[in-house]
Amino acid sequence: MNKPIPVNVNCDNDNGWLTVEQARSRMCDSVNVVDGFERVAIRDSLNRILAEDVISPINVPPYDNSAMDGYAVLTSDIPSSGETTLKVTGESFAGIPFTGEVKSGETIRIMTGAKIPTGADCVIMQEQVQRDGDIISIGSGHTKNQNIRFIGEDIKQGGAALTPGKKIDAAELGLLASLGIPEVTVKRKLRVAFFSTGDELRAVGETLGEGQIYDSNRYTIYGMLKRLDVELIDMGVIPDDRQAIEDAFNTAASLADAVITSGGVSVGDADYVKETLDKLGAINFWKISMKPGKPLAFGKVNHATFIGLPGNPVSVMATFYQFALPALQRMMGQTDVEPVIVKVPCKSLLKKRPGRTDFQRGILTRNENGELVVDGAGMQASHILSGMSKANCFIILPAESGNIEAGSLVDVQPFNGLF
Ligand code: AMP
Ligand code: MG
Repeated sequence: MNKPIPVNVNCDNDNGWLTVEQARSRMCDSVNVVDGFERVAIRDSLNRILAEDVISPINVPPYDNSAMDGYAVLTSDIPSSGETTLKVTGESFAGIPFTGEVKSGETIRIMTGAKIPTGADCVIMQEQVQRDGDIISIGSGHTKNQNIRFIGEDIKQGGAALTPGKKIDAAELGLLASLGIPEVTVKRKLRVAFFSTGDELRAVGETLGEGQIYDSNRYTIYGMLKRLDVELIDMGVIPDDRQAIEDAFNTAASLADAVITSGGVSVGDADYVKETLDKLGAINFWKISMKPGKPLAFGKVNHATFIGLPGNPVSVMATFYQFALPALQRMMGQTDVEPVIVKVPCKSLLKKRPGRTDFQRGILTRNENGELVVDGAGMQASHILSGMSKANCFIILPAESGNIEAGSLVDVQPFNGLF
């Protein structure tokens, strides 16, 4: 049995509740980064976490080149006033450089991305030039190095292009390709098992009986995990049965690095999750000072990290985003994790009671002046999943605040900025 994850700590609240920040940092600080890695072709590294320093084997760009279609000239030929003429003595195209040298009184026709010919130190845009046969006239006001992209100005040969912990996105694929690197080492995929608990739950495709509901949490959790690009182990719905729950936990922990469940973690629950996990011995049952999503369980089942989300569908998503997501990202080895939070005026009054941090569902739009504004996404109760679907952001209201007047600045966390 693993050692319990340390928990008992000073809480900001006198009733022993944890603040959102306390719970998040406690979880993130106690999980371990997976230690496996694999070597993959760069396209297969998309969404994976880099596990090595990528040192650039070349300068990017590899040579001084033109940022414009125009004419490569010597700065010393540019008139201080009036106009002067130069003779076009050659061409430099992207991929077909001019191999000679540009001398005083001469110019080279040059295209975007083409190598700057020896001697030239300035490119004049073609729109700023009059051409008549082999002769161009240029005016004053052009400066040395104008419209030149320099060797190594993007990335220097031997310099760090990417560092471990970086999530590979489209820009990184392009960057790796620009360095001519065909393969990279990435962290192995995190394995995450998940299941729902509750006698009232039926799987999609089954018929609902009296007092039954469909299991939606396994679908929201699936969606959020899928976007994280982890290996998924969907264990279905587990009934509120002592043995079934214990077996499910043991199986999940033997297969996965992390186990995520929903339901059965609130105190006074008729479910056996808490009881079963208490028996396994290393789980903390927290009350978090947030709304929605007060109860949360966190700890270890055998070697696996366990995160027990509450049952209510909106609470599941709010607690997944605020706690499970950063903890899993940490386990995956991702270091560049910084959820986007912006301050935006709210359009109308937001109702709130002082006490807990609210994660209200909001709709971020632009007003008639093109400025960002946010409004509540309708009913805010923790079972209103349609509000989560209408919303495109959380409006984060601090614990101590009461009602928020229309026009006040509020913290907004766009859903799209979460991953
Ligand atoms: P619990 O914490 O298990 O008491 O669940 C709290 C509320 O969330 C109850 O109304 C449950 O019916 C509901 N709930 C629990 N699990 C799910 C699920 N997987 N899908 C939809 N609703 C759920
Ligand atoms: Mg339940």
